[in-house]
Amino acid sequence: MQTVRIYRLKDLNRPTRARLKAAQMEAARVWMDCLERHRAARSERTRWPDRDELQRATKGGQYALHSQSIQMVCHQFLANVETTNALRQRNPRHRYPYHPKKYLTVQWPAQAISCQGKRLILPMGRGRKSFSFHLPDLPERIGAVSLVWNGGYELHLVVPTAPEAHVPVPATMVQASVDLGEIHQAAVTTSTGKGLIVSGRGIRSLKRQYNMTLGRLSRLQSRCQQGSKRWRRLQYVRARERSKKERRVRDLRHKGTRQVVDFCRAAGVQTLYVGDPRGVRNQSRGRHHNQRMAQWEYGKDKQYLHEKCAQVGIMCFSGSERGTSSHCPRCDWKKKPKGRTWTCRRCGFVGHRDIVGSMNMHPLAFGSRISYPASLTYRRPGPLRDRRQTKERSPSGTS
Ligand SMILES: [Zn+2]
Repeated sequence: MQTVRIYRLKDLNRPTRARLKAAQMEAARVWMDCLERHRAARSERTRWPDRDELQRATKGGQYALHSQSIQMVCHQFLANVETTNALRQRNPRHRYPYHPKKYLTVQWPAQAISCQGKRLILPMGRGRKSFSFHLPDLPERIGAVSLVWNGGYELHLVVPTAPEAHVPVPATMVQASVDLGEIHQAAVTTSTGKGLIVSGRGIRSLKRQYNMTLGRLSRLQSRCQQGSKRWRRLQYVRARERSKKERRVRDLRHKGTRQVVDFCRAAGVQTLYVGDPRGVRNQSRGRHHNQRMAQWEYGKDKQYLHEKCAQVGIMCFSGSERGTSSHCPRCDWKKKPKGRTWTCRRCGFVGHRDIVGSMNMHPLAFGSRISYPASLTYRRPGPLRDRRQTKERSPSGTS
C-alpha cells in the first residue's frame, strides 16, 4: 500500500528554478534519444532496443542527471511501448511514442534519495550539485520522488504505508451505501441505522467563484489584442486562478471522502456500495444548472472512495443508482422529487432527499430494505478558507 504526498515548491529562487527546468529538459532529451532508437529499429526492421540496450546507450555521463533517473526514463519509455503493443491488439492505428517532448517529469527511485533532518536531497549525478529542499513534516520512509510541473513545480513523494490492522469482524454484516451528489458531496446510510451527510457547498462555492473570475478575465481579454503583453498577462492570471481552484477543490474532495470512510470505519462497515450517478448529468436544465453539472466530478469521488476504502480494508463496489431518488423508501410510491426534502403522499414518509437516494440503494446492492437512519450527522469536508489568510488577493492582475 502506498500514498503520494504532494509538496508544492513555493518561493524558489531564480537559479534553482532554472536548474529544475534544465533537469526536466535533460530528462526529455533522454526520452527523445530512446524514441529515436526505437523508431530507427522499427523502420530498419531490426531488433527493438530492450532494457539492457537502452541502459547501455544512455550510460557514461551523456546527460546531466543521476544515473538512476536516466534509467527510470528508459523504463518508462519501455513500459509505454509495452502498453502500446497491448493497445494495438485492438486498435492497430494506435501509435508508438512519437510526440516530441521538451520537458519530462524527473524521477528518483527510493535508493537514490537521502534525507538530512527535514531536508530532502535529490542527487543529480557525480560532480553536479544536488537539489536540496526543506520540506515540512517529511515522512520517515520515502519511496520514489518525482519532480512534476503542474503550473508550478511540485514534488510527489511516494510514502509506503502499512495496511491497517483489521477491525474485529462483528457478528452481523454491516453494509453501507453512498449517494454522491453535487449539493451534498455524499449521503451515507448504514444497515445499523446511522446516516452521514457531507456538504458540497464548499466545492460549489469555489467553482462558482472561479467561473465568475473567468468571466471577468475574458471580458478584460476581449478588449485587448490577442497575444499582446496585456493579453498574455491576463492569460497568466487565468492559469494561476485555475490551478489554485483545482488544488482547493481536490483538497476538499479528499477531506470529504475521508469523512465518509472514517464514518464507515467507526460504524464497523464491511461493504460499501457507491451509486453511479451517470445519466443525471446529461439532461438539459438551463445553462446555469448545466454548467454546474458539467463541472461536477463524481468520478473523482468514486475513485477516492475506492482507494481510501482499500486502505482500511472495506470492500467497495459501485453500480447503478437508477430510480433511487424517485421512489419512496417505505412504500415504493413513485414521484419526481422536488426540493431537498422527500415527502410521500401515500404513506406520509418525510426525509432528506439524498438520504432517501442512499437508502434505496440498499435493496439494489444488498437485497434488503433499511429504515430511515435514527441518527444523522452533518459534516463539512473541512474549513473552506485557510484561517491564517486574512486578506483575499484580488484576481485582476491588470491594475
Ligand atoms: Zn411512501
